[in-house]
Amino acid sequence: MLALRKFAPEPGIRLDEVDEPGKPGPGEVLLSVSAAGICGTDLHIADWTAGYEAMAATMPVTLGHEFAGHAVQVGAGVAAPTVGSRVVVRPSVVCGRCEDCRSGRSQDCTHRTGIGIGRDGGFAARVLVPAENCIALPDGLDDALAALTEPMTVSAEAVDTAEVKPGDTVLVIGPGTIGQGAALFAQAAGAARIVVAGRDDPARLATLAALGFPDGIDSAGMSLRSALERAGLPTSYDVIIEAAGVPAVVPEALDLLALRGVLTICGIHAKPASIDLTRLVRRHQQIRGSYRAPLATWPRVIAFLAADPQRMRRLISEQAPLSDAVAAFARAKSRAASKIMLLP
Ligand SMILES: [Zn+2]
Ligand SMILES: [Zn+2]
Repeated sequence: MLALRKFAPEPGIRLDEVDEPGKPGPGEVLLSVSAAGICGTDLHIADWTAGYEAMAATMPVTLGHEFAGHAVQVGAGVAAPTVGSRVVVRPSVVCGRCEDCRSGRSQDCTHRTGIGIGRDGGFAARVLVPAENCIALPDGLDDALAALTEPMTVSAEAVDTAEVKPGDTVLVIGPGTIGQGAALFAQAAGAARIVVAGRDDPARLATLAALGFPDGIDSAGMSLRSALERAGLPTSYDVIIEAAGVPAVVPEALDLLALRGVLTICGIHAKPASIDLTRLVRRHQQIRGSYRAPLATWPRVIAFLAADPQRMRRLISEQAPLSDAVAAFARAKSRAASKIMLLP
């Protein structure tokens, strides 16, 4: 079968013919993958930017950690999913034995491996996954929409971490899929006003407008504050969610944060940011980090996606066959696309 793989700890990815994964072992499920999303993490891994060195030990490895499909074979002791049932896969495989796992915080497990990062993932027609990582899908949610679940749990977790309240004014920095989801969940949490900022990002801001968020600004060539002023939008926010991964926007964001406001960072930053801590102290502000969502967020996000599939479909800018993966990666990197779904 065809698989999109990372071969060496250097820039590059390649489509290759690989053997079928074989029969599922005890507790495992063989899935037929129908949709797998290309994510910012995949682009970082393809370009081999800092932060993924641990992957070198498992290469070659098939990428793809945001995917949905159906069970074609189940191993011994697997009660669910049953053969033929449709599922989305939680990519974190946890140890089940460490302190965090035993106290119900398996999202914090320090021994976890990521499907599609530390072991073969969903950019292939078939993949072996632990049964406990499979979550059943409702009939109303097709596989391409279901493959949005993982990035949307990251967005939902950012909004939960920020504690967005009814009436809040919210600024989302970074108009990619995570930022788009943050706008959706902030709205669901009752935010009164949601502004989304991008830089040289017309396509993704257009996606946001189509999702019903017309207050998008493009701050290319100017500060965020000037772009907001020019657009006649607020310059003070109760909550700011940073999903751009650009360290230079952190001090800009703090400048726009209200007294006692909360800045939640969920972008992955290649370098440290420089911030004025005394101003932060005197304005009684908080900076919070947000990353992987707890298991309980998954069913909530699946229900959210299934409640309005027509609107959620706008999060997917393109569907492409797996054989087109390398070119699709290039399009995803150009920011001309938001979420590209590969169809293995
Ligand atoms: Zn991802
Ligand atoms: Zn653990």
